[in-house]
Amino acid sequence: MQETAVRVHPRKPAALAAASRWTVAEIEALFDLPFTELMHRAQTVHREHFDPTEVQLSTLLSIKTGGCPEDCSYCPQAARYDTGVEASKVMDCDAVLDAARRAQAAGATRFCMGAAWRSPKDRDIEKVAELVSAVKSLGLETCATLGMLEDGHAETLQQAGLDYYNHNIDTAPDKYGDIISTRQFQDRLDTLQRVRGAGVKVCCGGIVGMGETRTQRAALVAELANMDPYPESVPINNLVQVPGTPLHGSEKLDPLEFVRTIAVARITMPKSRVRLSAGRQQLGEAVQTLCFLAGANSIFYGDKLLTTGNPDVQADQELLAKLGMTTS
Ligand code: SF4
Repeated sequence: MQETAVRVHPRKPAALAAASRWTVAEIEALFDLPFTELMHRAQTVHREHFDPTEVQLSTLLSIKTGGCPEDCSYCPQAARYDTGVEASKVMDCDAVLDAARRAQAAGATRFCMGAAWRSPKDRDIEKVAELVSAVKSLGLETCATLGMLEDGHAETLQQAGLDYYNHNIDTAPDKYGDIISTRQFQDRLDTLQRVRGAGVKVCCGGIVGMGETRTQRAALVAELANMDPYPESVPINNLVQVPGTPLHGSEKLDPLEFVRTIAVARITMPKSRVRLSAGRQQLGEAVQTLCFLAGANSIFYGDKLLTTGNPDVQADQELLAKLGMTTS
């Protein structure tokens, strides 16, 4: 195993532009590298494209919570699971603006608005477009995650000032049916195509720790890295096991395997912002620090991630200060 692993030659990031395709086997071989070798390669790539001391801060606000008709096995907002999440209507503009101002005052540069829809209706898009425009006027970058988009939706959001659209591919294509039955993997790709077509930047990642194999983690990263172009932002989530969801009680991922996933994402998508997303609270400071060493350079910042806990702002500021990191 090890002999195979060390035969993987580091690729030059310049050769990793969209035309270059990664096979799942190549990415799995990166996962299989000795940990110290993998970290060195990830850091080398990271330093060629970014200041390794700098972390970008995004804040995520749930503007419409719960009551979702989808059946994502990890999600407390699916109406069919008894998780204690109360369904709510879309927040009004003043409340969203208050939250955006607070996020900006705390140092966030990007404000992401999430809504628990399978697929927003035209009137929902109009409403979110107003919110995007208002948040953008504060000088923040804007991002939205609203579910699957129909033709014309991404254009409306782009015209309102949307910088990024988040739409995760969740997991490997051959694991998809185990996690979600109410949509297909291809549906995700179709929405991502619409987002790209409208000139909106793509935020797209996935979740690990859902019982997938290492090969499937490699396949998830391959899907992301082989997008043409690959996503500007890549959130890597560590499953937060919420009581009442089908994945509650499943076997937890080894934290070092999570760090490996970050490193492999960094190597295969050298110019992306690789974001530590859900599950950061459970990692603790030492593992988060390893993630920064592995090439993570963005975090979700704020007390809540849609409905699950996140390290509080003060704890994040203390950790970043302890590490001597700067923020943007
Ligand atoms: S992840 Fe999104 S689409 Fe899936 S159930 Fe939760 S809110 Fe709905």
